[in-house]
Amino acid sequence: MPDKSKILGAGFRGRCPNCLEGSLFDGYLKFARACPTCGESFDIEDAGDGPAVFVIFIVSFLVVPPALVFQMVLEPPVWLTLLIWIPLIVLACLVLLRPFRGLMFAAQVMNKAEQGQLLDATQQDEN
Ligand SMILES: [Zn+2]
Repeated sequence: MPDKSKILGAGFRGRCPNCLEGSLFDGYLKFARACPTCGESFDIEDAGDGPAVFVIFIVSFLVVPPALVFQMVLEPPVWLTLLIWIPLIVLACLVLLRPFRGLMFAAQVMNKAEQGQLLDATQQDEN
């Protein structure tokens, strides 16, 4: 398996974390069922809301300060504020969401992360 930075970089670029070549996506945000190059299954993809949380934090950090300065310095009407900042926020989120979905999937594959399972009493005694 390639080193961790290459795996994460491939995921960020929307490439398969196994072969670093095939596309992860079948559409803008929908994952393909398997890698078209190496055949690795992407059925284990389970990033949930993780990518959206990172994107919300990043976009908030980038947009809120300039929006506040814009509002305080220029004192524009509300319609102009909404007209400028809402499309900018939506666009920034859409641009970042795909790379972060790929990044989170690559991290999942790299760390062999999977859904947690409860052990029953006999399994706990063995561990
Ligand atoms: Zn692949």
